[in-house]
Amino acid sequence: MVVGRFAPSPTGPLHFGSLVAAVASYCDAKSQGGLWWLRIEDVDQTRRVAGVSANIIQTLQRYGFTWDGEIVYQSQRDQYYEAALAQLRQLGLAYACTCSRKEIADSSTLHGIEGVIYPGTCLQHPTKPDTPAAWRIKTDRSPIGFADPIQGHQQNNMATDIGDFVIKRADGLFSYQLAVVVDDALQGVTHVVRGADLLNSTTRQIYLQQLLGYPTPAYAHIPLVLNADGQKLSKQTLATALPDDNIVATLIAALVFLQQPLPDNALSLPLAHLWQWAFAHWQLPKITSD
Ligand code: GLU
Ligand code: ZN
Repeated sequence: MVVGRFAPSPTGPLHFGSLVAAVASYCDAKSQGGLWWLRIEDVDQTRRVAGVSANIIQTLQRYGFTWDGEIVYQSQRDQYYEAALAQLRQLGLAYACTCSRKEIADSSTLHGIEGVIYPGTCLQHPTKPDTPAAWRIKTDRSPIGFADPIQGHQQNNMATDIGDFVIKRADGLFSYQLAVVVDDALQGVTHVVRGADLLNSTTRQIYLQQLLGYPTPAYAHIPLVLNADGQKLSKQTLATALPDDNIVATLIAALVFLQQPLPDNALSLPLAHLWQWAFAHWQLPKITSD
C-alpha cells in the first residue's frame, strides 16, 4: 500500500510553490491507488498564525484535493514525540545541551552543510545544570544516503556534514526533524514527495528512523518554484496566496511546472476530470532537477 502526505506549516496561506508540492505528492499517491494524508505541521507554536490552518484547508478543498482520514495536527502530538525522545535517551543516543547559539558559534571550528557543527561541549554533561536544556542526538561518521529519483543520489556523513542536532529545543518545542520522522512512521507513510528545500533534512530523518527502528520511506524532492528574482517562493519573499478563481488554470500551471502532459482541452475540463486525467498520466520520472 502506497501512503503519501502533504505536510504544510501554517505560517501563511498556500502559494504556487506549495501547490506544486501538494500536487506532486497527491498525484504520486493517487496514481498508485494509495492513501494521502494531510498533516498540519504546527509544532512550532511561536510561528503559528491564527486562522492560517483553516485557510490552507479551505484552499486545498477549493482546488479539489481530498485527503484520507482525519487531518493530523502536530500541535496535538507531543506525547508521541516525547515517547520517541524517551526511547532515544534510553538508548543513550540523546543528551541535554545548555549551550547558547553564541557559545556554539564561538567554540565551533567546523562547518557543515547548514552552518557550524556543534562541537559536543555537553556530551558528558550539560555545562549549565540550572539552565533549561535542549536535547541533541549523537551523530557518528557513518554515511547516510538515499536515491532520489529527481535529484540523484544524496549522501551525508552525519558527524561532519550535520553534527549532533537538536531534536527538542530548550523552550520545550520538538524540532521539525523529530516530529516529521515520528509522524511519517506512525502514519505509515511510504512515499515522501516534497520540495527540494528539504533535501538537506532527509539524511537526518533517515538517521533518526534508523535509531528509532522505523522503516525509511521513498523520498523524491521536486525542484523549487522561484520568483522572477530567483528566490524561493515563501512568506519571506512575499509570495502571493493562491487565487480563489482560475483554479483549473492554476492547477494546469502546476502540472506544467511538474513537466506532466496535459489533455488537449485542459482549460475547459471540470476540475474533477482534470484530476482524474492527471492521476492517470502522472509520471514522476518526467520531473527533472531544474
Ligand atoms: N512542514 C514542512 C514545510 O512546510 C514540510 C515538511 C515535509 O514535507 O517533510 O516546509
Ligand atoms: Zn551544549
